[in-house]
Amino acid sequence: MQEQQVRQRIVDAAHLLADTGMLFRGEHANLSARLDDAHIVMTRGGSIGHLRTDDLAVLDLSGHSTRGETMDPTMQEVIQMHTRVYEARHSVGAVIHTHAPHISVFAVAHQPIPLVYEPLLRFGVTEPIPVVPWAPRGSDQSVNAIIEVVRDHPGLPAIMMANHGALVFHEDPLSTARLLATLDEAAELIIQAKALGGAQDLPPAAIDAVRNRMALFGSHR
Ligand SMILES: [Zn+2]
Repeated sequence: MQEQQVRQRIVDAAHLLADTGMLFRGEHANLSARLDDAHIVMTRGGSIGHLRTDDLAVLDLSGHSTRGETMDPTMQEVIQMHTRVYEARHSVGAVIHTHAPHISVFAVAHQPIPLVYEPLLRFGVTEPIPVVPWAPRGSDQSVNAIIEVVRDHPGLPAIMMANHGALVFHEDPLSTARLLATLDEAAELIIQAKALGGAQDLPPAAIDAVRNRMALFGSHR
């Protein structure tokens, strides 16, 4: 894909996040997408409420800017959180971090999000979304803990960072933004269901059944 297309898709994904309420009040988020085997395109600052294609930088996987575009100093500490996910899993085409309002409830409560919402199955989610223990954001300790989970769970497309927020990684910017929004729906529904006695498990055969339906009819995300 051409660089300009990648930039536009990140902007489209950022707008989707804003439109679906995934930015919470601080509008804090960082987004990136794979450009080629050795480069990504990433947001340069921490607020993406009105993101434009010029607000992005091309970085190599060591985190160095290759077009002379400067990153906001606060972004320097989160670059590795993105680049190391691309290195650890070659199928990942985009990475998004936000403080999505309901996912973050589970993150601060240190509770995994159970797999009880069918739309998540359509993004290939087959297990609960885990909470990675807290460490300062972007620190080696934090990033190493995230990468360990990414490696140990090869199909898992999202994690929560304890006391912080979500990190979601999927095929492309829009699918990643939609997965984040769907995961936040799941989190909201599970919280609401507690008033009615709690969310109920999907039947054990649900994952295979949905996979078969998607093969027949497409994913309908
Ligand atoms: Zn954050």
